[in-house]
This record gives sequence, C-alpha cells and structure tokens, in this order.
Amino acid sequence: MSRGSKKPKWMRNIAKERMDILFTLAMKEFPKNSSRSHRYVEIARDISKKYKAKIPQKWSRSYCKNCYKFLFPGKNSNVRLISSEVHIKCHECDNVMIVPYKKEKKLKRRSKINAHIIKERTNEQISFHNNH
Ligand SMILES: [Zn+2]
Repeated sequence: MSRGSKKPKWMRNIAKERMDILFTLAMKEFPKNSSRSHRYVEIARDISKKYKAKIPQKWSRSYCKNCYKFLFPGKNSNVRLISSEVHIKCHECDNVMIVPYKKEKKLKRRSKINAHIIKERTNEQISFHNNH
C-alpha cells in the first residue's frame, strides 16, 4: 500500500458507492437482523480506511461515532432537537452525538423529495391496477 497518499478519485468514488450500498442494506436488514447491520457498518468502515474515502454524509447519522454500531432512529437511537442542535443518542453505548441543525435541514429536504417520488410511483401502480 502507498503510504499517506490519496487514492485516485475514481477509486474513492467506487468506495463511496459501496459504502452507500452497505448502509442501504444495513437499514433494510436492521428490523430482521440487527447484528448483520452492525457488520455492514464495520465493512463500510474498512472500505473507508482502505480507500481514504469518507463515509457518505447522508449516512453520517446512521452509525455511532463511538461504538460504530448501526443506528436506527426509534429502535436503538433517539433523535432529539435541543436549541439549534440535533442530539442523537446511541442506545448501544449511551454516547450522544451532536449535529448542527443546519445540516439536518438539508438532509430532511432531500428525504422529502424522495418520499414524493415514492408516492408518485405508488399512485402509478394503483392506477395500473384499476385498469384491469
Ligand atoms: Zn454507540
């Protein structure tokens, strides 16, 4: 391994894509098999270190910065808004992460757009069903 030098951008992009997939899987698996979700975070961390690529920002609140377990809001984590900060409490190790609210707002807006897309798709399926 080359020491200290950054990996080429295309390589880091692939790494980011893989981490994104791992976190998506972790989220899906959590209700069924939470220990598998934690394992996915571990793999994502290994990729992050190996390729010197940061874990995608949209997942930065989905794992604990202390014990590196996958965090599922309302299941093993609590999200609370205190003044202008978001406090995320990990129930695995009781660590509290503090995120400035500004970042949170941006992410929320994006998830709203995603929800809209999902809704449209569902409507399409319903109208298709009615034609039969
Ligand atoms: Zn933790």
